[in-house]
Amino acid sequence: MATQSQGTILVLGGGLMGLAIAHGLARRGESVRVLSRRRSEAAGFVAAGMLAPHAEGLQGPLLALGQRSLEQIPAWVATIEADSGLHCGLHPCGIVVPFTSGTERDGYATAPWGLPLDRSGLEREVPGIGPAWKAGLLFDQDGQIDNRRELMRALEAACVARGVTFEEGSEVLELLTEPGNPDGVAGQGRARLTGVRLRRADGQEHGLACQRAVLACGAWSAHLLPQLPLFPVKGQMLSLQGPRQALGRVLFGPGTYLVPRQDGLLVVGATSEPEAGFSEGLTPAGQRQLQEGLAALLPEATHWPPMERWWGFRPCTPDEAPLLGTSPIQGLWLATGHHRNGVLLAAITVELLVGAIDNGWQRVEPELESFDWGRFEPTLS
Ligand SMILES: Cc1cc2nc3c(=O)[nH]c(=O)nc-3n(C[C@H](O)[C@H](O)[C@H](O)COP(=O)(O)OP(=O)(O)OC[C@H]3O[C@@H](n4cnc5c(N)ncnc54)[C@H](O)[C@@H]3O)c2cc1C
Repeated sequence: MATQSQGTILVLGGGLMGLAIAHGLARRGESVRVLSRRRSEAAGFVAAGMLAPHAEGLQGPLLALGQRSLEQIPAWVATIEADSGLHCGLHPCGIVVPFTSGTERDGYATAPWGLPLDRSGLEREVPGIGPAWKAGLLFDQDGQIDNRRELMRALEAACVARGVTFEEGSEVLELLTEPGNPDGVAGQGRARLTGVRLRRADGQEHGLACQRAVLACGAWSAHLLPQLPLFPVKGQMLSLQGPRQALGRVLFGPGTYLVPRQDGLLVVGATSEPEAGFSEGLTPAGQRQLQEGLAALLPEATHWPPMERWWGFRPCTPDEAPLLGTSPIQGLWLATGHHRNGVLLAAITVELLVGAIDNGWQRVEPELESFDWGRFEPTLS
C-alpha cells in the first residue's frame, strides 16, 4: 500500500459537502486530499440553490439546523470569496410560498416565521402570479445562492488556494479497516479505518493509507458503507431566460419552484423521483410536470426562451435529515444525506464537522447527536 503522509485527511467525494469540508479543514491548517469520481455528477452542480428552511416547511431539529446554517451563510460565503477571489452568488431575495386558501396558508408548518399575504399581497410580491393562488407566506429571511454557476467554482478555487490537493477521476472502491479493541472504552470496539482502495483516472487500482477520512459521496455514500440507510432521489430541472428583474423573489409552489437569478435566468425545479433510483437522463413526464408547474405559478414565463435541462440525485435518508458525525468505523466521519437542503446546510455542516474533527471528537455538539447515524441503528439488520 502506498504511504499517505501522516495526518492527511482524505475527503471522499468532491461534491458540495466534500469541497466545503475540505475548505474548512484546510483553513484550520489540516492537510487535505479530495478523491473525486466525477465532478459533473455532483448534486452541488444540479441544485436550485434555495436557502429555504422556512419555505420548505422544515420542522423540529432539522428546522433548527437549517435556521442556524442560514444565519452563518454570509460569514461562510465571505471566507470562500476571500480565499478564491470569486463571487458565490449569494442573494438574500426572500421566498414567497403561495396557497390556494388562507386556511391552507395558516396550517403551514413554518407559518409563524412568515408574513401572511392575501391575493393583493401576492400580486405585489410576485407580479404576474397565476390566478389559482389566493394567499401566501413571505419568508424574507430565506434566499438563494447560485451554486451551479458560482458557488461550486468558488469553493474549488478556495480549496486550491488553501492547499487542498485533488484527485479528479479517482473512484473510492472500498474502505479498508482493521478490528477495533472490544475491551477498550466506548466506541473503540468499532473497526478502525486504515485506508481506502481506489481506481484512478488511468484505470489502475491502488491502496491509499489514512487514519482519518470524511465520507461525502452524496447519494452514492451507501455504496461504500452499506449500513447507511441512504438512497437517491432523482430531480429534474430546467431553466429559461426571462427579462432582468421580472421576478424579485423565489416562488416556492407545491411540486414546482421558480428561482430567479439576478441576470434574469429562471431556474425551474424540481421533480422528486425516489422510484427512479440512479437512472440517468430526462423524462417526458418529468419535464411536463415542470412545464405545468411553471404555467400555474407564472403563466407569462411559459413564453420565455428555454436555456438548459438537467438532472441529479439527492442523497436521502428515511427521515430526510442528514447523517453527520461519527460512523460505524473509527476515523471515518459522515457528512452526507442532506437530501433537498444540502446547499442550505453546507455552512453548519462545515462548522460542526470541522469543529469535531479538530478537537478529536472530545466535545460533541448536541446538534450532531440529533443527526447521528445511530438513530437508525435499531432498524438496521
Ligand atoms: C434537483 C435538485 C435540486 C436541489 N435543490 C436544492 C436547493 O434548492 N437547496 C438546497 O439546499 N439543496 C438542494 N439540493 C440538494 C443538494 O444539492 C444536495 O443535498 C447536496 O449537493 C449534497 O451534497 P453532497 O456533497 O453530499 O453530494 P454531491 O454534491 O452529489 O457530491 C457527491 C460527489 O461524490 C462523488 N462520489 C460518489 N461516489 C464516489 C466514490 N466512490 N469515490 C469518489 N467520489 C465519489 C460524486 O462523483 C460526486 O461528485 C438539490 C438537489 C437536487 C438533485
